[in-house]
Amino acid sequence: MRKILMNAFALSLLLLFLSHCSAVPLFEYPPDWKEAAKRDSVVKYYSKFLSGKKIFLDAGHGGEDRKNKNQDGNVVEADVNLKVVQNLRNYLNAAGVETILSRDEDKTVPLAYRSELANKSGADLFISIHHNAPAKWEDNYTNYTSTYYHAKETDYEYEPCERDLAKYIQRDLSYVMGNPGGLGSFDGTYSDYIIYPGEGFSVLRKTEMPSVLVECAFHTNRLEELRLNDSEFNQIQAWGIFRGIGKYFRSGIPQIELISDSTKFENNLLKLSFALIDSNGINTKLLQFFFNKEEKNFSFDKTTNILSVEIENSNEGEYPVRVICANKNGNHSLPYHKKLFVNNSGYFLLKD
Ligand SMILES: [Zn+2]
Repeated sequence: MRKILMNAFALSLLLLFLSHCSAVPLFEYPPDWKEAAKRDSVVKYYSKFLSGKKIFLDAGHGGEDRKNKNQDGNVVEADVNLKVVQNLRNYLNAAGVETILSRDEDKTVPLAYRSELANKSGADLFISIHHNAPAKWEDNYTNYTSTYYHAKETDYEYEPCERDLAKYIQRDLSYVMGNPGGLGSFDGTYSDYIIYPGEGFSVLRKTEMPSVLVECAFHTNRLEELRLNDSEFNQIQAWGIFRGIGKYFRSGIPQIELISDSTKFENNLLKLSFALIDSNGINTKLLQFFFNKEEKNFSFDKTTNILSVEIENSNEGEYPVRVICANKNGNHSLPYHKKLFVNNSGYFLLKD
């Protein structure tokens, strides 16, 4: 009898123990997100760098385009993209950012119209949110976080500031999700030429402002599909992207100012000077000047931060001019593209 009582006691202890054991959580709360008060203070902190900015948010797919799903069909990429965008919009708005969305509901938005809307909006940045799927439908293992920029480093079209933004978003998003950046890249950022060689993604190619495309995770992965269907997790995803954008702006963006915009040739030489402005200081190793799409030599005065060029050219016509610089935090200037007009009376003029 005593033995039975002992066994019953042991069993009840075991049941009590099991009832207090919950299943392993699918995700952890980032410490700076968990408590609403802490979250608000972080948003307030980043508002110092974000307030007054204008950001275009593009939730991929939607409406008639809802074919990207997990194997069970209960995770639709278009819906998860929208949830992340809406949460991100809320964090950005709270930090004083003006946001424009390509869609705020489940509706069809043609691909070309997305970049058109963004270009008309005058936004400072364009961020497209997607979730990924593997090449083989039966693959429910693959999962990583990746962020795409347009073109490759060696191409004229490549804008290093897009890679900067991609790095900041990728680092904080993959960190809060606990995902790696995939095996095709050392830092989780990828050229969109990997997917469409020589063309890249339409939304990155056609947008005029710095733009990136985020593939937050694989909605086809067996564990990830469970997390992506959790609205708290969608908020955490947005939180990672928000922090990345905040840190990007915190690192500063150098400004380029033309010192003289209309002048006469001297001994057949075009002379142009640009002031490079950044309170963090200019990284002299990351300066580039292009004339007519060719990289040219220049001189740089470290005390005045003035970049000067002399080009032998007095032929009538229109020539693209481009300047790239970076600050000491590694952040590059926003795209600086001008057209140089040369007329037959020996004057030239630099315009947008
Ligand atoms: Zn997609």
